[in-house]
Amino acid sequence: MNQIQCNSSRRQPSADDLAALRKRCQGILPLDGRLAAWMSGLFVNYGQQLNNWVEQFGSPVNVIHTTPLLRNIQQLVDVAASHSIDFRVYFARKANKCLAFVKSAVLAGSGIDVASEQECLQVLQCGAEGDDLVCTAAVKSKALVELCVRRRVTVVIDNWHEFACVVDHARRLDMRAVVAVRVGGFWHQNERLDSRFGFDVDEVPTIVRKISNPEFSANVDIRGLHFHLDGYSASQRVAAIEQSVGLIELMRDQGNRASFLDIGGGIPMCYLEHESQWNDFWSVHLDAVLGRHAPLTYRGHGLGFTASNGVLLGSPNVYPYFQSPVQEQWLNQILSAKLKTGDTVAATLRDRNIQLRCEPGRSVLDGCGMTMARVEFVKRNRHGDHFIGLLMNRTQCRTSSDDYLVDPILIPAIDRRLEEIDQPIEGFLVGAYCTESELLSLRKLKFRLGVQPGDLIVFPNTAGYLMHFLESRSHQFPLARNIVFQSMGNGMPNLDAIEHLSS
Ligand SMILES: *Cc1c(COP(=O)(O)O)cnc(C)c1O
Repeated sequence: MNQIQCNSSRRQPSADDLAALRKRCQGILPLDGRLAAWMSGLFVNYGQQLNNWVEQFGSPVNVIHTTPLLRNIQQLVDVAASHSIDFRVYFARKANKCLAFVKSAVLAGSGIDVASEQECLQVLQCGAEGDDLVCTAAVKSKALVELCVRRRVTVVIDNWHEFACVVDHARRLDMRAVVAVRVGGFWHQNERLDSRFGFDVDEVPTIVRKISNPEFSANVDIRGLHFHLDGYSASQRVAAIEQSVGLIELMRDQGNRASFLDIGGGIPMCYLEHESQWNDFWSVHLDAVLGRHAPLTYRGHGLGFTASNGVLLGSPNVYPYFQSPVQEQWLNQILSAKLKTGDTVAATLRDRNIQLRCEPGRSVLDGCGMTMARVEFVKRNRHGDHFIGLLMNRTQCRTSSDDYLVDPILIPAIDRRLEEIDQPIEGFLVGAYCTESELLSLRKLKFRLGVQPGDLIVFPNTAGYLMHFLESRSHQFPLARNIVFQSMGNGMPNLDAIEHLSS
């Protein structure tokens, strides 16, 4: 028996425990993931339980925990309070479907950003009020618009047809719809931030005058302005806020009670422990793409780059897994930034009584979940690499980008035999879809103490998008179950309430 399974002291894992654990499964160039304390506690002290959960709920299984969500939201709230601004978080629920997150966010006083009729209905059923909700769905069905108007959910208006649809429903229901105007195409460093979403910033003054017309005002209550930018640039947010403040004043001049500016999501987070590992990985990977180093990835996959006559083309097609500043420090940087008037963003909002709202999804789910799957086979190919087959498919830990660049954690099977442990191998995690490209990790991994059927592979920190954004039932595989972890040694976790809703 190995040390990890024998450890019955149930103490908080030491740095040595974690280093020993990570050594079992690392990239050829390691990318150590940041692990929430509850995760490392489970890995080091409760390997047996994790095996039981996979046995009971199937492979893969998503384990979620809501406490880090509340802490992450609170840290944003605290930073805003330190600048004395009116502030509210609307958790972007599309980043994870579990209802446990919705319920705890609502109980803690946060709002929820919903992206579809079903999300909206479910969140209302969880006890949220319309006031707590903002609907940013990219395409809004008539049924969704009607639901929002009836329940006084703030509708973020993306285009004219949507506005007409809202007016139509509000008139028929004899109600006043609560709306915000979505804006895109802001100026930043003399270039436009083009977007498919919202009204173009240059058009907005005309739009605001049009929709503020008395013919609409009986049925439309224009409360604020909304944007959501691609990427994670703080300076782009500052530029967009600066341009938005003037538009909110224009809304007010036109007789509207505009009270808030919603800056959307895209608050950055960091998945990795060490910046140096991230930099080393990219420098060697790019050398490999140029043919100057053995590939770190399956069949030399470029992760967004190709080489042409010795020149690198492309850009990383992956999330920036290491970045800084993130979360509340990033927000603090924005709030402290000086605008052209010489005032900070915070002072500008405060002086004008503008409430700041944001809609973080991924970053507030930092530390909130992990995905575990069982190893079913290990085999060697003719190049000497191994394929490690997991009972899982790649839609179960993936977003729209190329790869999840965080080293998985290996939890050895309980009945692993001693003589089998000591065989180091290298290879790739492969999944259950029947395509050649079905890899669960494009990076080659090193298993210093081997890997065997019955071992668990755990992908840490997958709650933001990685669990659910792309999950599919292709091949008629069932979707992964989602279980809610409460505390250590507490027996079996419960299924999340989303499991009891039919799709
Ligand atoms: C996806 C989305 C969010 C959440 O973005 P994160 O990057 O997860 O913070 C917020 N608002 C809108 C409009 C979105 O489309």
